[in-house]
Amino acid sequence: QAKKAGRNRHVVYQVELENEAKNRLVIQNALKKALHADQLSLYYQPQLTADGQMFGAEALLRWHDPELGFVSPAEFIPIAEESGLIHALGDWVLQEALAQLKGWLAKGLPFAGHLSINVSPWQFALPNFVEHLESMIRIGDVDPAIITLELTETGILVDVEDTIKKFKRLRSLGIQIAMDDFGTGYSSLAYLRDLPIDILKIDKAFIDELQNSDSSPLTESMIAIGRNMDLHVVAEGVEYDRQAIRLKKLGCTIYQGYLFAKPMSVYDFEQWLAARR
Ligand code: C2E
Ligand code: MG
Ligand code: MG
Ligand code: MG
Repeated sequence: QAKKAGRNRHVVYQVELENEAKNRLVIQNALKKALHADQLSLYYQPQLTADGQMFGAEALLRWHDPELGFVSPAEFIPIAEESGLIHALGDWVLQEALAQLKGWLAKGLPFAGHLSINVSPWQFALPNFVEHLESMIRIGDVDPAIITLELTETGILVDVEDTIKKFKRLRSLGIQIAMDDFGTGYSSLAYLRDLPIDILKIDKAFIDELQNSDSSPLTESMIAIGRNMDLHVVAEGVEYDRQAIRLKKLGCTIYQGYLFAKPMSVYDFEQWLAARR
């Protein structure tokens, strides 16, 4: 009896695995098509200072598939990374973001601050990453000093020596570097001292704590680390007044979240920019 139940459970597990694998394959193929059929888009979410000035905006990938519906980047980015599609996808994101930025400036829209672009560790790990990026920015005809790259801890600590070299070259081009999702990776603080970065983005999970609990020692300490190191500290996922008020008290001066603005389509973002004139 027990043996039979065990076998059944094994069968159920096997079926789940197969479904999961099939699902990944479906997404992988559909994503490849979407990339070539121009079915992807970028949304833009403003990052604002405490007095409402624009610090910048983050480009966020969106995909609506005719059959699968809306698929979250949190789901499809890992699949793109596994299949190698991330390189073509990352190039598309960069080209698209640069073209939009150039358009906004040409139209005289008051885009201020930095355009922040997420970079996958797989892109960053390529030996010619910096040269490739530099040539794309040159072709896009945009001032590199307007660009910020968002990288996660996990991605940049694989080969710290290589990361430091690349960061130095990026910064010599005027590009800023943001550590994304700070606090969620498995890493030691020691590397912070050695890595030339400009911006610390505190992950939403820690911003949530400011709403859910009166005591949030980790969030407070992370903000203090950023401030003491003279970095810009950006709070991710600010949804409530209480969070914004507490953040301001703690000296965190840049906010990104639904409380201020959601990620917007190009059309909506242009309206948003125009309304600030
Ligand atoms: P991320 O880089 O940490 O981006 C911030 C995420 O928080 C975005 O989710 C954004 O929509 C969401 N967010 C911002 N404010 C709020 C808020 O107030 N409340 C809530 N609940 N969420 C908020 P999104 O757009 O779903 O992207 C998820 C992740 O997918 C990103 O996390 C990033 O890691 C990845 N991603 C998105 N676009 C790209 C891309 O172009 N390239 C790469 N490599 N990864 C990307
Ligand atoms: Mg990001
Ligand atoms: Mg983030
Ligand atoms: Mg995050």
